[in-house]
Amino acid sequence: MQIDDKITEGYVILCHNKTEEHVFIVRTLGPAVECPKCGSTALSGDLATDFVRRKRNGRNGANGANGANGANGQDRTAASS
Ligand SMILES: [Zn+2]
Repeated sequence: MQIDDKITEGYVILCHNKTEEHVFIVRTLGPAVECPKCGSTALSGDLATDFVRRKRNGRNGANGANGANGANGQDRTAASS
């Protein structure tokens, strides 16, 4: 289970069951989150930590790509000569 997004209504939770995927919204993160469809639970602290980490990684990844683009431009000029 993981937090997919944070919206004005609360948190969008994504539940990965073995065969299905459930999406539901919770207004606030209590001590634990329970999927209304399959009843599986997860600790809100774990979900929040994972959510923050993924957001941070995404930003770092974008910065790295920008640096690579600059290097590619130089390589292209050198290769054409
Ligand atoms: Zn579920």
